[in-house]
Amino acid sequence: MSIPQLSQVQEDDLVHALHHYALSNGLVMYPVGFKPHSPVAAPVTLYPTPFPQQAFEKAQMVQEKFNELYAKVSSDVEWLSAVLDSFAQFDAGFTGKLWESYKKAKEIGIKQNVSLGVFRSDYMLDHDQIKQVEFNTVSVSFGGLSSKVGDLHKYLNDSGYYTSSASRFYPDETIPVSESSVKLADGLADGVKHYNKSQGTKDTVVLVIVQEGERNVFDQRHLEYSLLKNHGIVSRRITLHELTDKTRVGHDRRLFLNSTDEEVSVVYFRSGYAPTDFKTDQDWTNRVTLETTLAIKAPSLLTQLSGAKKIQQILTDEKVLSRFIKSDVSELVSTFVKIYPLDGSDLGKEAKRLAFESPEEYVLKPQREGGGNNIYKEDIPGFLRSIPEDEWQGYILMQLIHPPLNKNKLVREGEVFTDEIVSELGRFGTILFDQSTGEVIKNSDAGWLLRSKFSNSNEGGVAAGFGCVDGVVLQ
Ligand code: ADP
Ligand code: MG
Ligand code: MG
Repeated sequence: MSIPQLSQVQEDDLVHALHHYALSNGLVMYPVGFKPHSPVAAPVTLYPTPFPQQAFEKAQMVQEKFNELYAKVSSDVEWLSAVLDSFAQFDAGFTGKLWESYKKAKEIGIKQNVSLGVFRSDYMLDHDQIKQVEFNTVSVSFGGLSSKVGDLHKYLNDSGYYTSSASRFYPDETIPVSESSVKLADGLADGVKHYNKSQGTKDTVVLVIVQEGERNVFDQRHLEYSLLKNHGIVSRRITLHELTDKTRVGHDRRLFLNSTDEEVSVVYFRSGYAPTDFKTDQDWTNRVTLETTLAIKAPSLLTQLSGAKKIQQILTDEKVLSRFIKSDVSELVSTFVKIYPLDGSDLGKEAKRLAFESPEEYVLKPQREGGGNNIYKEDIPGFLRSIPEDEWQGYILMQLIHPPLNKNKLVREGEVFTDEIVSELGRFGTILFDQSTGEVIKNSDAGWLLRSKFSNSNEGGVAAGFGCVDGVVLQ
């Protein structure tokens, strides 16, 4: 399907309407160097992007099973320990510190076995099939703004801005709106309700751990507003650093806010996924402290660690998968592309050969999150040569997915850019589970996100400035 063909005057009208809608409805973000009162429209596509319905539904169909898989992995301390003990050292600066923090927390004592996963499984299309880019287990973003972009595209279509005849360009039913803004909040509420029931408390709050200077605040706020509106649950926001002065740990290792004396039932991390989120040793100590409180963590350290890229690589082995999922795993496996370790195993040796012989087919990934960390194609051999071979095991080598190109327009800070884009579909999920037994208490799909970027850029981080939030037009 091609995009609407509008005159310059019509397009100007459309973009004007887009900005009004975005600013009226909180489809916004802070720009670089912002002041608290000065958000701007979030970078979005002017039009929704075509996506095959079958593939879209497949992502929904496998989400709960993926939730369960990662819940089971993070409940299997024995297995995780063996894996982390051997590879965490290759990312001593971060993965190693998270693993060390878990061990410290364990020594102090872990009071809360229930963990809350707020996940996002990311895919790109390859020949109309979804292929998994990665599975995120910490601080997944854009669930709030995604719902807003769906609403925006629907509004523009319904108002006739996409045509010169004031009629709809897309059949109404082909533009879905993600329920992520509501459903991710439902997931947080599952955690709060479970805590209140098991601890005999009420009026407990969600503590959102935020980054200092966060620009994607409104995405988070939309979830907080859903939480209050739909569940009557209040949330409070502090940085990891502020934890020291603003909270205290009371009897039974219950966590309280000093200013209000409110008890915290769920700690929701929208920070703590990158080394820069920990500025001082105190921040690391605070992370350990949180882990030892009675509050349910979203995610716990083990749940965060289970989302390491290394673990994604290991889980592409069906034998390993069947350790965690007893039912049929073929639907999960069909979303995998080849991912190799770069170690001394037979597979690792093959990968080392491939990295030098056909680097153009691969992306090299370290154990990091948040975009901007990968090494692509022809850059791989030079990069590998620049570090000792012993350190290669800290990386995984992943086959590149080749998503289709679509024509669209991106609107960013008032400017319209036209080019070919590629898109990445994220499917959200929430799962409440007992880490000591692996028992699943509640498991839900939680809507979706489409992000797009110009096809000539390797990465698609929206907040990082590479991409934008998109919507879907089902084909
Ligand atoms: P991060 O945790 O930093 O988001 P990702 O694994 O999602 O790391 O990689 C970042 C980006 O790199 C993705 O959003 C995607 O645009 C691109 N990318 C990652 N893996 C692949 C792949 N196998 N094929 C094509 N592009 C990829
Ligand atoms: Mg990630
Ligand atoms: Mg990613």
